[in-house]
This record gives sequence, structure tokens and C-alpha cells, in this order.
Amino acid sequence: MLGSCVVRMLAAGAKRGIVATCAIAFGKAATRSCDNPLKVTRLLVRHLAQLATPGGLEAPLRGRALGEIEVIEDAFVLCREGTIEAVGRMRDLPLLDDDVEEVDGRGRCAIPGLVDCHTHACFAGDRVDEFALRAAGATYEELHAAGAGILSTVRATRAAGEAALREAVERHAGWMRAHGTTTFEAKSGYGLDRETELAQLRAIAAAGGIPTWLGAHAVPPEFESADDYLDFALAEVLPAAARIAEAADVFLERGAFDVQQARRYLEACAAAGLALRLHGDQFTESGAVPLAIELGARSVDHLEATGPDGVEALAASDVVGVLLPASALFLDRPMPPARALVDAGAAVALGTDFNPGSAFCESLPIVCSLACTQLHLSPAEALAAFTVNAAHVLGRAGRKGRLAPGYDADIVLLDAPDWRHLAYHLGGNVVSGWVLGGAVP
Ligand SMILES: [Zn+2]
Repeated sequence: MLGSCVVRMLAAGAKRGIVATCAIAFGKAATRSCDNPLKVTRLLVRHLAQLATPGGLEAPLRGRALGEIEVIEDAFVLCREGTIEAVGRMRDLPLLDDDVEEVDGRGRCAIPGLVDCHTHACFAGDRVDEFALRAAGATYEELHAAGAGILSTVRATRAAGEAALREAVERHAGWMRAHGTTTFEAKSGYGLDRETELAQLRAIAAAGGIPTWLGAHAVPPEFESADDYLDFALAEVLPAAARIAEAADVFLERGAFDVQQARRYLEACAAAGLALRLHGDQFTESGAVPLAIELGARSVDHLEATGPDGVEALAASDVVGVLLPASALFLDRPMPPARALVDAGAAVALGTDFNPGSAFCESLPIVCSLACTQLHLSPAEALAAFTVNAAHVLGRAGRKGRLAPGYDADIVLLDAPDWRHLAYHLGGNVVSGWVLGGAVP
């Protein structure tokens, strides 16, 4: 147990004015030690060493505003029915006269629940053999060309069945939550047939994720060409996928889909009502940035190979650049030009890219450390990038990513006296508790 809190409530049947008190365990493996006979509608996290949140109301944040984090010392957060009602200093806490569940935040910091806007968390099997081969010198592209890579996960995912896929997403979501992620997106793209793509999307939604149809991830072996596969995917999968997914994504890269094919896929997906995202410029500068801007995509993700023209174009657009430094590290690739993007005024977000092949990493705190040491962002810029800006990429600006009145009461508590330990503690886990939808899980 990493902390404790106390509940005060009027017990059912108790005489008016008699207050019952019971202890609630609070931590990763904790459960409530008493049943609450009345519905507690308010929750107070009090005496926090610090509360840190992106400021303002805008999304996405860019330029100087990206690094303007509000920090309140000796702070509280008050939640009501799943929503943040108030935040402030303890000395300004109003008198609370109804039933309130309290969490003692002494020695801890509160930050918004983290938002992972780019994962591939729905898959079966693993690629540990491939990891070892790569460590011995094989490149990711060579492995992909040899039938390893994405297609090996496609084989395992097709064979798994929907129930196993749902269990996998739930297991992975638990890993992510242990590192502070309370909202996550996950993509399909390991089915590449109708049945498995739709099963993936349903499994992601059932496990609480936000589903993205990555129907154009790779060309499965039963199709002769990318164009033939897209004929099938757009005619046979898109109509049903569009009823489950919120966005569509494409892997625009040498050996996967080219600009013309990506345009065809994305235009069809937009016509079906899906928001647009692209994997672009991961290995080669592939035309993804101009296409994303032209089509009004929400994001273009990776950008490890993006040059100065792409940086300038993104900065002048509304498309968010999603940076995935864990993937670049995992594959020993160059890091994306994050500092140049931020300095030019581009909106950036951060994600894990959690997947079995190129980024087996579910931890946004590790991404936060990499953002500071490898991308040369400040801890404050990194926090905004995987809270409010990531929420914008997922169409949840105004609900997720800030500790401010009216936002969803998703709060992460850090077992540290300063919130920047989130970035500072490389590979450690300072996450010591959560509030999800206004309740302690
Ligand atoms: Zn990805």
C-alpha cells in the first residue's frame, strides 16, 4: 500500500449526524476495505505537495504556451460525479457540508491522467525472437521483407479469436494504467482481413480504448498488390469499421503504402466519417506531411525522417505532429526533430507507439524522460504533449488532459515531492495511484 485515505459518510440507518469512518487502501493492488452503503458523489484529494496541469483552455497548445504548466503548492482537487469541480490551494478550500470521500495527498503530486494517443495495444503473440535477431544486426526493414515484422503478428492475431484479443487489450491497458495512462487509443492493423480487423476494433472498444482502424498497415500475403488489398479493404471492411472506429490510419512508407494509395484510403475513410491520421516519415520522408495537411488530418505520427520543409509546413498547419521517441530508441533510429517543431510553432503530442515489434513500451513516463533527454523538450512541454495535446488528437479536448473545472476527473498521483520526477526518474515508476472518473478504482 502506498498511501491511505479516509472516507467519512453517513452510514445507512445511522442516526442523523453520526459519521462513520473507514479506511480505504489506495495503491496498485489495493481494494476497498469497507463497503460504502451510500453513493459518495464527491471526492477530495487534499494536501497535495503539488498539483501540475497545462494551463489555459486552448488545445492544442503550441509554442511558448506548450511549456506553461500551472503548478499549485499545497493543493486540492475536488471532484463531483466524475467531473473536476474545483482545484486550488488548501487555504482556499471551501467548507464541504455533504458526503465527501477524501484522499490524503501529503508528499505526493497530482497531474492529469495521461493520454496515450498512439498505441497498437491489440495483438497476440510477441516478437522477442525478432528482437534478439535485430540485436544481432538484422534491420527492421530486412525482417519485414523476410515475412517477420508486422506479418508475424498478423498470423498470431488472426489465430487468437476475439475473446483472447479483448483479454490482451485489457492486460495491456493494465500495464499502461500502472504507468499513469488513463485514456488510450489503440489501432487495428494486425488482422488485415474483415473478421479480425473488426474483432480488433470491438476488442479495443470493449477494453475501454479508443479504436482507430489501421486497415492500411501492411499488405497481407493473400493479395498481389497494395491496390488489390485496398480494393478489398475499402469495399468489404470500411463500412463496418467506420461504425466502431473513431479514426483511420495508414502506414505511408516505402514497402507499405505510397502517397497515391494513402490518399485513396484516407479520402474513402473521411467520406465514411472517420477522422484521419497517418504514420509518416518514419524511415523515409514519404510525402505524409503535405498529404496530412491537404486532407485536414488530425495528426501525422513518427516524423523521424522529416526535414526542414516538413517542419515549416507542419508549423503553419493545424495537424499535430505525434512524436514517438520510444520507437526511435527501440529501433536505434534518429529521433524526430521535436525541438525544431516546437520552436517553429508546430503542435506536437507524445505517445508510446506500444506494439510488439518496434516499441514494446507501455510507459509514458519513460517517453517523458526520452522527450527531455533525447528530444530536448522541457518536462513541462512533455507533460502538455501527452495530456492536453494528445487529448486533442483523440478528439477529447475540453474533457481530458487538464486538472481544471469541467474536465473528466482522471487524476494520476505521483509518489514524489515534485511532479518533474515523472521525467527525472528514468525507468522508475513514480505513479502511486489514480482517480478514474471521479472515483478511486
Ligand atoms: Zn504506430
